[in-house]
Amino acid sequence: ENHLNPNYTFDNFIIGKGNQMAHAAALIVSEEPGKLYNPLFFYGGVGLGKTHLMQAIGNKRLEDHPETNVKYVTSEAFTNDFINAIQTNRTEEFRRAYRDVDILMVDDIQFFAQKEGTQEEFFHTFNDLYNNDKQIVLTSDRVPQEIPKLQERLVSRFAWGLPVDITPPDLETRIAILKNKAKLDNLVIPNDTLSYIAGQIDSNVRELEGALSRVQAYSKLKDEPITTDLVYEALRGLKLSQDNRQLSIVDIQNKVASYFHISINDLKGKKRMKSIVMPRQIAMYLSREMTSNSLPKIGKEFGGKDHTTVIHACDKIAEIIKLDADLRKEISDIKSALN
Ligand code: ADP
Ligand code: MG
Repeated sequence: ENHLNPNYTFDNFIIGKGNQMAHAAALIVSEEPGKLYNPLFFYGGVGLGKTHLMQAIGNKRLEDHPETNVKYVTSEAFTNDFINAIQTNRTEEFRRAYRDVDILMVDDIQFFAQKEGTQEEFFHTFNDLYNNDKQIVLTSDRVPQEIPKLQERLVSRFAWGLPVDITPPDLETRIAILKNKAKLDNLVIPNDTLSYIAGQIDSNVRELEGALSRVQAYSKLKDEPITTDLVYEALRGLKLSQDNRQLSIVDIQNKVASYFHISINDLKGKKRMKSIVMPRQIAMYLSREMTSNSLPKIGKEFGGKDHTTVIHACDKIAEIIKLDADLRKEISDIKSALN
């Protein structure tokens, strides 16, 4: 009915620097909804615990006060409900469903971008709840001001309460999250192995959990306990697939050609003017430095040149970079554009 995931509780939520404000606000709102922070607005990158924390408010409230009417939806579900209601002449029902609640949570409201009609309806829903001191909790991957085509009046309303950001967990928090997750899953993992995993996966909590499941599956498959060596092997495939998503020679050629405003054909061709030779050598140099392709392979990709030509180009650029600060800067610009 309320669509809450029972595992998304405060008990299962590890507090760290990046989320402690959000956690504290969530706890207060679950104790006194509609009073202090209305709306409560969490924003931050994917997989950092926005949905978890939001639902924890609902779960806690229902545990302490089962009579509370809690409604959780994604912004897409809100949009679909609204469209269906219009198509089936049930807008009254729709309004009751969204306004006869004590806590309304709408997840990922960045997807309200561009949706004029839905924004209009949500504006009225918001006002109705707000005027009746009902709690509104919202999440988004960015601050309201940065959501494209979000009506100004919604942007300003979203800022009335408390916008709090959630930032990625630091190493200690990542270790604590893994420890907690291992305990929940009855996994036996030595501390240094947990630290090793947390050191390898530094993006977000969802990926951290993904890595742990991978390790768990790998240990089952090999029928071996989870050790750092086993983790190393289990995660190696993950790393490789990330590396594979990395740059190709073609990516580098495209970027260098457009940076210097020359054609790909010229870049790969035989013309000897300086305005073309230099970009060509830079592209070879970067292909050598930023990909794992062999010299002959790089030569081949540059119109079938010999590997000694590639070596010459790499040496030449390496030499010039030492002396020429402008070129150094240009190459570093191209590199950051490629990353
Ligand atoms: P978001 O909504 O920000 O994309 P989620 O709430 O879906 O992120 O979190 C992704 C996963 O990570 C979920 O399984 C969630 O339980 C877990 N998670 C995120 N933050 C924490 C935390 N601080 N402690 C424990 N688990 C967390
Ligand atoms: Mg989410």
